[in-house]
Amino acid sequence: METLREFERDLGEMREYYSQGKTKEASWRKSQLKGLLTLLKEKEGDILNALMQDLGKHQVETFRDEIGTSIKTLNLALESLREWMSGRKAKLPQIALLTSAEIVPEPLGLVLIISSWNFPFGLSLEPMIGALAAGNTVVLKPSELAPASASLLATAISTYLDNKAVKVIQGGPSVGEQLLQQRWDKIFFTGSARVGRIVMSAAVKHLTPVTLELGGKCPAVLDSLSSSWDIKVAVKRIVYGKYGCCAGQACIAIDYILVEKKFTRTVVELMKSMIKEMFGENPKESHSIARIINKQHLLRLKNLLKDPHVDASTVYGGSVDEDNLFIEPTILVDPPLQAEIMTDEIFGPLLPIITLEKIEDSIQFINSKPKALAIYCFTKNKTLQRRMISETSSGSVTFNDTIIQYAADTLPFGGVGGSGFGRYHGKFSFDTFSHEKAIARRSFLTEFWFRFPPWNNHKFQLLASSFNFDYLGLVLVILA
Ligand code: NAD
Repeated sequence: METLREFERDLGEMREYYSQGKTKEASWRKSQLKGLLTLLKEKEGDILNALMQDLGKHQVETFRDEIGTSIKTLNLALESLREWMSGRKAKLPQIALLTSAEIVPEPLGLVLIISSWNFPFGLSLEPMIGALAAGNTVVLKPSELAPASASLLATAISTYLDNKAVKVIQGGPSVGEQLLQQRWDKIFFTGSARVGRIVMSAAVKHLTPVTLELGGKCPAVLDSLSSSWDIKVAVKRIVYGKYGCCAGQACIAIDYILVEKKFTRTVVELMKSMIKEMFGENPKESHSIARIINKQHLLRLKNLLKDPHVDASTVYGGSVDEDNLFIEPTILVDPPLQAEIMTDEIFGPLLPIITLEKIEDSIQFINSKPKALAIYCFTKNKTLQRRMISETSSGSVTFNDTIIQYAADTLPFGGVGGSGFGRYHGKFSFDTFSHEKAIARRSFLTEFWFRFPPWNNHKFQLLASSFNFDYLGLVLVILA
């Protein structure tokens, strides 16, 4: 990174550029979004290679999660920009005679986006699209743990976007900390709760608004569905949602499954056959499952399995290839609830199944843990569906599938409680990087004399009644 002084000078220049008003123009915003679109199209091959290098991700996964979703978001932003930018009328009470009001979005200024390594393009570009559409200048700090992606982001963004308004700063925690010491108009952070706390404490200094996109343990509730077709589809979606998205290194990956005891055997057998169907007899050779990001994370996951009680609960998989950063899709049944694998976010291809007497007990189980980013619930039971929505709290609830909520632009994406706060995707991203300014316009034509001092009892009554106002009532009061 440049020296701190150089960096502060750059930020000063970005602020100055923002104050000139160029980034507020619709044409500038459009040009940046189009620049990102061109980047994704022209650099597609480089992005696929970078993700293969950083995470061994198959190009289908990379296109789906990093390129395709970003293109979809860019197209939506380009189509909707005029509408998002225009103010909307606000209703006023009848007392506000000849007054109109509207809500006008304005950019926040200079924003900082810190992203994580598991979807290095998606999690950097998705918020950046919102920030640029909203007319901000942006500094992005991608994760140092996906170095090929971070370096490609830095060179490509400086080629395709306006350098005076968008910068990528590469580096790890110490660079992150230096960035956090600066004054920002918004910090958008994706990562762990541990670093989320550091971000929030830094934000206090300048009262900077913060969005924290964190993780946690996302449960999947699997009811004993009555038809064998439904069970197969459910298990297929679970296996895909766990191992088929960055090998479980995803904030919305299923962390553990809740099933009724009597149903466990069926589930485990089906899971085994689905794993074989999707990743073959030897998943390491399949190329359809990503690698663990680095040795440190691999050892963290390996350690989760080391506990003898956890080891004894492993019913499938469990092999670890340190040299190739590979962990086999692994299934566990009833590891101890106090073991780390059940207290910490797993963030890898290990999937515990926790057995319950009745599937309804899942609600109490989920409520005994911090609020999740996502809950998945496979059931046709409408009462259980209703209870899952009303009796639990989480960023999202998805019935009968996994991960799809992430791709829906019309749904806000974000956590609650321990899984973070703030939201983005689609129009929500634009809103996250905008201030909604309240505008009121009054006419000079009318005035109520009782609004002004000197005060007396009559004015008090008139004023009080005006809060319960209807025109006729006020006229009667004034005439009285
Ligand atoms: P992390 O918190 O270690 O790192 C995230 C970012 O913060 C990286 O860019 C890193 O360089 C930076 N950072 C690290 N230390 C810092 C410091 N002291 N000061 C400033 N910046 C610092 O997280 P990670 O390992 O990249 O990601 C894994 C975590 O992120 C998991 O908990 C996962 O659930 C969560 N996550 C959440 C989402 C979401 O959308 N909610 C998406 C992906 C990952």
